Amino acid sequence: MADMNLMEKIVSLAKRRGFVFPGSEIYGGLAGIYDFGPRGVELLNNIKRVWWAANVYERDNFYGLDSGMFKNPRVWEASGHTSGFSDPMAECKKCNTRIRVDKVLEAIGVTADEKMSEDEINELFDAHRAEIACSKCGAHDFSRVHKFNLLVKSNLGDFTSEGNEPVYLPGEACQGIYLDFKNIVDSMQPKIPFGVAQIGKAFRNEISPRNFLFRTRELEQADTQLFIKPNENKDAYEQIKKERWAWYLSLGIKEENLRFKQHENLVFYAKDAWDIEYNFPWGFDEIEGIHDRTDYDLSQHMKFSGVDLRYTDPETTEKYIPWILETSMGMGRVFLAVLADAYHEDELGGETRVLLRLSPKIAPVKAMVSPLLKNKPELVEKAREVRAELKKVHPAIAWDDNGNIGKRYRRQDEIGTPFCITIDFDTLGENPDLKDTVTLRHRDSGEQERLTISQVAARIRSSIE
Ligand code: ATP
Repeated sequence: MADMNLMEKIVSLAKRRGFVFPGSEIYGGLAGIYDFGPRGVELLNNIKRVWWAANVYERDNFYGLDSGMFKNPRVWEASGHTSGFSDPMAECKKCNTRIRVDKVLEAIGVTADEKMSEDEINELFDAHRAEIACSKCGAHDFSRVHKFNLLVKSNLGDFTSEGNEPVYLPGEACQGIYLDFKNIVDSMQPKIPFGVAQIGKAFRNEISPRNFLFRTRELEQADTQLFIKPNENKDAYEQIKKERWAWYLSLGIKEENLRFKQHENLVFYAKDAWDIEYNFPWGFDEIEGIHDRTDYDLSQHMKFSGVDLRYTDPETTEKYIPWILETSMGMGRVFLAVLADAYHEDELGGETRVLLRLSPKIAPVKAMVSPLLKNKPELVEKAREVRAELKKVHPAIAWDDNGNIGKRYRRQDEIGTPFCITIDFDTLGENPDLKDTVTLRHRDSGEQERLTISQVAARIRSSIE
């Protein structure tokens, strides 16, 4: 069920606690652009690390890549982006609000096929105009539908001279993988099946950026492309679907908030396409696409570049254009799903609290260390020692000596810190039996236990492994 109240709470917490800020805010902002703050960048990098580990380090036949963002303009012709990377747009004649027609139709249960011509989509839109009101002013008076290209243009070199051709910011990050297919084969000598993984930025001139990090104009995609023998797609595709599902569970996302959705309308070259959807505050929506793309991408680049991109089987010397199984996940969307999934309000000690139940693996801060009283130098000194010791386990160990202990705990709960450690007089030996022990407080239960410093270090280590 849609819970937009939850969305407001997440957006507010994200800003208040340094996760995500609106881009260029002091200048009034810039639609569809966000900045990741000090805690957000830690969470984002942790998600990336977990993704990289699962897709590069834990696989013997996968290679990492970081390709240049700007590419020869021919690339976007070969990929079909200059001609076909568009969304259908109409404008409210009363208030000039632009709508994305396929999404507005989808909301009333009507599917607009990506392959439709401009005339066809106008016909479909005309049949439903009466049901569609402008989200801003409520009018039912929209312009004709136009196909609006999403590529963002730029210039390189001497852009004052005539005839200088524009270059494009990447509409999707994965093109770099196709362009370096031959380089990877030549330099790494991989045997098919092998894959390439990349996290890269993409830019889309989205008609209506919305839902916080869900639809932005600058985004980051984590992609894998598995190169396989022609027609050996079926089992490998099922395997990938299983692995991607398991990956979300490994992030701590609740299984009931995930589902698979198969595409009804496939592009002509595709064999199959599924999305993994997450139950966002407004309902289930796409987080990642898993695509069975045949040999389309490499064939196109072979045709447009004139370079032979066929793979030679080292044993049989057979030459063929590999087929591709692709996964493409939006980082911003996973980040938002992680926040929405972790957000909880509960009661602890008779008080309502907000907490993020983040998996310790991705939490921006792993533990917070605190002296019981900040005006007792002996407690502060010992607490600093403990922190230095725990930093050997992980560098993201915070310090907080402000306000009472309860307030310190609440602040950490709100940013998802799994453990809080308090140093008191018993730690110093006031009670000799407890010397060199500390209080470890657990975020989710609020429970506390007395442990030695090395036991605490072991707890933190095992929670993030
Ligand atoms: P949509 O239908 O929502 O526009 P798409 O099908 O065009 O998405 P793809 O081109 O398959 O998306 O991109 C792969 C992934 O990149 C998506 O699953 C999504 O997670 C992410 N993504 C795409 N567009 C955006 C955007 N504007 N903002 C944030 N993430 C995006």
